[in-house]
Amino acid sequence: MQDGAMQAWLESSHLAGGNIGYVEELFELYLDDPSAVGDEWRELFDSMPAVGKDVKHSEIRDQFREMAKNKLKMAGSQGGNSETSEKQVKVLQLINAYRFRGHQHANLDPLGLWKQDEVPDLSLDHHALSKDDYDTEFNVGSLAIGKDSAKLGDIHSALEKIYCGSIGAEYMHITSTEEKRWIQQRVESQLGQPEFSKEVRLRLLKELTAADGLEKYLGSKYPGAKRFSLEGGDSLVSMMKALIHRGGETGAKEVVVGMAHRGRLNVLINVLGKHPQELFNEFAGKASIGEKSGDVKYHMGFSSDFKTEGGDVHLALAFNPSHLEIVNPVVMGSVRARMERRGCTDGSQALPITLHGDAAIAGQGVMQETFNLSQTRAFSVGGSIRIVVNNQVGFTTSKREDARSTQYCTDIAKMVQAPIFHVNADDPEAVLFVSQLAIDYRNTFKRDVVIDLVCYRRHGHNEADEPNATQPLMYQKIKKHPVTRELYAKRLIEANLIDEKSVKQMVQDYRDALDKGDCVVDEWQPMKAHSVDWSPFIDNEWDVDYDSKMTVTELEDLGRKISEIPEGFKLNSRVNKVYEERRKMAEGERKMDWGMAETLAYASLVKHGHRIRMVGQDSGRGTFFHRHAVLHNQKDAETYLPLKHVAENQADIDIYDSVLSEEAVMAFEYGYATAEPNTLTIWEAQFGDFANGAQVVIDQFLSSGEQKWGRLCGLTLLLPHGYEGQGPEHSSARLERFLQLSADHNWSVCTPTTPAQVYNMLRRQQIRPVRRPLIVMTPKSLLRHPDAVSNMEELAEGVFHNVIGEIDKQDTKKVKRVVFCGGKVYYDLRKARREQELNEVAIVRVEQLYPFPHQEMAKVLEDYQHVKDFVWCQEEPQNQGAWYCSQHHFREAIPDGAKLNYAGRNASASPAVGYASVHKEQQEKLVNDALTIK
Ligand code: AMP
Repeated sequence: MQDGAMQAWLESSHLAGGNIGYVEELFELYLDDPSAVGDEWRELFDSMPAVGKDVKHSEIRDQFREMAKNKLKMAGSQGGNSETSEKQVKVLQLINAYRFRGHQHANLDPLGLWKQDEVPDLSLDHHALSKDDYDTEFNVGSLAIGKDSAKLGDIHSALEKIYCGSIGAEYMHITSTEEKRWIQQRVESQLGQPEFSKEVRLRLLKELTAADGLEKYLGSKYPGAKRFSLEGGDSLVSMMKALIHRGGETGAKEVVVGMAHRGRLNVLINVLGKHPQELFNEFAGKASIGEKSGDVKYHMGFSSDFKTEGGDVHLALAFNPSHLEIVNPVVMGSVRARMERRGCTDGSQALPITLHGDAAIAGQGVMQETFNLSQTRAFSVGGSIRIVVNNQVGFTTSKREDARSTQYCTDIAKMVQAPIFHVNADDPEAVLFVSQLAIDYRNTFKRDVVIDLVCYRRHGHNEADEPNATQPLMYQKIKKHPVTRELYAKRLIEANLIDEKSVKQMVQDYRDALDKGDCVVDEWQPMKAHSVDWSPFIDNEWDVDYDSKMTVTELEDLGRKISEIPEGFKLNSRVNKVYEERRKMAEGERKMDWGMAETLAYASLVKHGHRIRMVGQDSGRGTFFHRHAVLHNQKDAETYLPLKHVAENQADIDIYDSVLSEEAVMAFEYGYATAEPNTLTIWEAQFGDFANGAQVVIDQFLSSGEQKWGRLCGLTLLLPHGYEGQGPEHSSARLERFLQLSADHNWSVCTPTTPAQVYNMLRRQQIRPVRRPLIVMTPKSLLRHPDAVSNMEELAEGVFHNVIGEIDKQDTKKVKRVVFCGGKVYYDLRKARREQELNEVAIVRVEQLYPFPHQEMAKVLEDYQHVKDFVWCQEEPQNQGAWYCSQHHFREAIPDGAKLNYAGRNASASPAVGYASVHKEQQEKLVNDALTIK
């Protein structure tokens, strides 16, 4: 026992230590379950020597005896009575039980349909207490009700109000005592009934009137049209406004919101201040975003400014596909970009708010990935506010039996120890209280916090749906259940804060405002100049001019800078060798390999003010040991990025090894890149096929975000690809899928074959004033291929060649066959062609498959207009790779009357074979097929 600690504790504790039995009983409780005793007791017991083989129980007993002898002042009425002392322990247990499990008895469901299990710990008898003890005074331990002791009756009633009212606070899973104390202080001191001024309460009614009024208005004006109404969760509007107000008052300058379709129109009109007339136009099918394909109205994003006590806050509602929950990491990425632009490292200036469905947050795995991002170096945003609009049904799937295996839909949030505040949506004051609490928690602890807004859905999944078909009892109840506005108006009328007539007037005023079609949000402000300017990139096509030239001298100088290692920094011997070679490359003593050229691309960009963010699985080192951008000191494990030290006033570069997720991480990077055009943003896969896990991000955002929503995005995907006999999973980055999604010049798809090409491709991506995704099939074996080398002049030239013609000297007139190819197979073809001296075959590399470089190809083919035999050669099976999706381009490029044949693997369900010998045989055959003129 640490005497000093015990003494100090005895003097300061609410419980002034009664007798040995009492302390012992608590100790036994603690040994069973440390969380069963109050925090003070646990802290105290934690500080004692571990009880086990080494410490005799008698020794501990002696310590308790000593404690009892030294400080035996019992608080007030507890006297020395041992029965009362025992009960005191029980009272503390009761308090603890409410803190742990009170939410299970809370009044959360507006419909009263939740079947709540009986929780024995919440009954007095479970703790050997009864109403007969109601008048006995007990110490309240750390219960924050403003006094040290109270009658059991008062304690019990306080616990019921705090933990079993309209708010179910679930937070005891958090291990930080500080956080738990903070939450207890906030929720317990209010006795579950926060007091709000008349002004605030009338404002809540006005917001409910707007939420309800909009849906009724749309329902009558556009009957049967899908609007995914908010009805049943109307207090979401108050919640959103409360969050933004509190956020603004506490320093937020930007709020990024992500939400699915439910209630979106209501949030757009009643929170973000979109003009109702614009929405009506959309209902009438009038709106358009120029030539683009557009999207349905309940996926559309919006931006505005919102006035708060702390100044104007910029609001951005993220565009959202139907794919549920995927927008959440996008929002975080967008917030991270905004934070970094503002030089804010803790998230205090940019606030993410994400809205979730109850079925989706539990069902969609991307939420696990998203929570896992929340506290990591590369992805943290200082905590997100996560609201579940919990209407207790997923489309037609009922909540407990079929939708999940956990008690609450929010249980996944416990993985990051987020506090979860369940709240009854029919109690707007409780909703307001938890909203403010959530912001304050997030600001204080910089962690995620969840609000579970327990509500219902007045209609079916959409307004044309028939919910009685699948949820008959629930919908019988809903039919009779008054809307939140009516319930709250009644409450305020009973409290004499408003009369019936004024309530009706409020409803009418809102309808009138909608009729006018003007903005209905008092806080709305016209959007001020944005902190980032997208105009240099708008409406630019791929052929826009740009200058990416560098001098050889400058490149050599940069080459030296990126190979400098600080004094005393001890490199691993293999890494040291890489760096020694780089120094030789910088001096022109060696030709440049892939790693050097790629690193020079980054160095030259940051030197000239372009920020870089690279995130991926093993990106610091590079999966294939080629990059070594992040160095690790072998003496003390310190890291060093030479790229951060290339020039004074250079732009910053961050290279992060990411969490092992593809979906959430790629979505995060998409969010980052759509909010930040001035940073070259790169996502790298460990192996290219890992991107499969992020297919939804590729389909729903990257390929089509500009078409659907007019949002530009310059994200680069580096996807290792190449057939080297490593089996079905590690050969293909699924080039065919990217090519199949290629249209409308939506992105570029490249298969570069030389270090100079990768250098110029990366620079082009950032310097050319176009912000569209770049998809790169990056090499594996080429990283060290003796022929895949370049010299400084090729880099300095500043041009990415979309097509590279034959480089060997040939008499072009004698050429009888032209082989088109891309990527690694080029080197296999060239080697075989050289070895066999097949001078009648020319090899043309298509380095950019999309947008197809017709002009450059035409130029290269000028010398081959007499050739009738063209071949596309690929390593991938016939149904994969570029053959099916790009052959129309090849056909268009070849001279009239010429034929185009295929040389490659046979069609296959699997991307590659698993046996190295079969792979080798196939590879040799496809090379032979491509080169042999029959
Ligand atoms: P936000 O900060 O997201 O609300 O964006 C403010 C404004 O900047 C938008 O209304 C757009 O005009 C423009 N903007 C933002 N992001 C993009 C983007 N990715 N592509 C094009 N314009 C954008």
